[in-house]
Amino acid sequence: MKRIVIATKNKGKVREFQELFQEKGFEVISLFDLPNAPDIAETGSTFKENAMLKAEGISSQINELVIADDSGLSVDYLGGKPGVFSARYAGEEKNDQKNLEKVLLEMNGVKQEQRTARFHCALALAIPNQQTIVVEGVCEGIITTEPIGEHGFGYDPIFFVKEKNKTMAQLTQMEKNKISHRANALALLEKELQSETIL
Ligand code: IMP
Repeated sequence: MKRIVIATKNKGKVREFQELFQEKGFEVISLFDLPNAPDIAETGSTFKENAMLKAEGISSQINELVIADDSGLSVDYLGGKPGVFSARYAGEEKNDQKNLEKVLLEMNGVKQEQRTARFHCALALAIPNQQTIVVEGVCEGIITTEPIGEHGFGYDPIFFVKEKNKTMAQLTQMEKNKISHRANALALLEKELQSETIL
């Protein structure tokens, strides 16, 4: 059986990738199963670059199929920030509350029509001796003036999705999974894989 390594320790992400690849006959493992996999620094300036760095960095060491992702929020008024710094925008790694407060402060007084933003999710699939496949999914939204909703994580409480008339944090996990940047990226990857010979 062919094996694919998901370069993450996030259980939710592992589950999403498992659904796609198990159905295609792959054994899916994650970094939980490979404690000695190299730790790759995310030094790229775009989501795609970071996903490729991670996937190719690990794949070249273990000579296996490796899929990696990089995601974050990009706010138009802030020139695309927090961007690749989304997880550590306020300084500390993964302090969701401080990160979203920083965005709200920087957007203080900005008019509704200038509050456009999008979540990005880049996925890279490194294949030994073949070119890496890279895709990027997005999800469009508007930055609210205060946090609303209890679900999700990260910037979800300040990300208003017009088509749902709710913030991302007011959606159930199932509702979010249908429209999210990650879902869109996975659909794009699935499309790419249909024309690939690795499967
Ligand atoms: P990572 O790519 O999973 O490390 O995500 C980087 C950062 O982007 C997270 O720490 C969050 O701040 C933000 N982010 C990524 N995806 C989402 C999402 O679906 N909702 C809210 N924030 C997100």
